[in-house]
Amino acid sequence: MEKSVCCLCKKDEGILIFKKDKYSFLKCPCGIIYVNPRDTFTKLKDRYNKNEVSGIFDYLTTREDDVVNFRKRLKVIEMYSKKERPLKILDVGCNVGAFLEVVRDKNFIARGIDINKSAVEEVKKRGMNAKVGILEDEVANEKFDLIVMGDLIEHLVDPQTTLKKANNLLSNEGILFLSTPDAGSIMAKLTKKKWLHYKPKEHIYYFNRKTITKLLNRTGFSVLNIYPTGRIRSIGTIIHKISEYSPLISKLANSVTPKSLKNKSMTINNYDEIAIIAQKTN
Ligand SMILES: [Zn+2]
Repeated sequence: MEKSVCCLCKKDEGILIFKKDKYSFLKCPCGIIYVNPRDTFTKLKDRYNKNEVSGIFDYLTTREDDVVNFRKRLKVIEMYSKKERPLKILDVGCNVGAFLEVVRDKNFIARGIDINKSAVEEVKKRGMNAKVGILEDEVANEKFDLIVMGDLIEHLVDPQTTLKKANNLLSNEGILFLSTPDAGSIMAKLTKKKWLHYKPKEHIYYFNRKTITKLLNRTGFSVLNIYPTGRIRSIGTIIHKISEYSPLISKLANSVTPKSLKNKSMTINNYDEIAIIAQKTN
């Protein structure tokens, strides 16, 4: 374990709001929630590579649904990019490559990067380009029109530095796309520490619309759009997720739902995850 600070203020002035799984959650006066103490980067990296959290098996299961979802996502992003096509894209935390697959279908030039070796292998197996590592390893002589960080920022040990690096890798007026849980959402406030996204073994920073905007402004971006983003998931997966809030309801639903229905997919939006489209300003 190691000591942590607020990623925006760089100070540990947070007030303990609750404990979950033996981890303390602190809220900084600026509004950012952080886990302190937290697991070291080495420990986190090891956990991802063992597929204990955010593992490839979950993402391989939801892959087809994610592709449909990311196609919609790309349509929104494309409205904001005035760059010449094909766009040059870097997908940070690409996992098994569902977003890379979507942009490949559009003939865009894309590359992924992920800390998880087995995830990168999955991407390569499908004939796409990805490498093992973190964004800070990238050399700045290659510029991108779009950098994507889907559900990544909450996992980072130093989001401010990573965003600065993303800014550095973008061409002028390049677009950054982020998605992250919204700790300011009604769902987060109602379910408190039971909120599904409070997962201290992988999520170490929690943002809301205001704090993510502040962090982006600090790192040279202006926010063009923030909107609640949903997911497409099979009914079986949704029933499984309910167990985090109520094991009993999940068990009941599981026993009465026919298998054929469990395999059907639907869009689910709890309004507790946000997508942010930001533009490099300096
Ligand atoms: Zn702060």
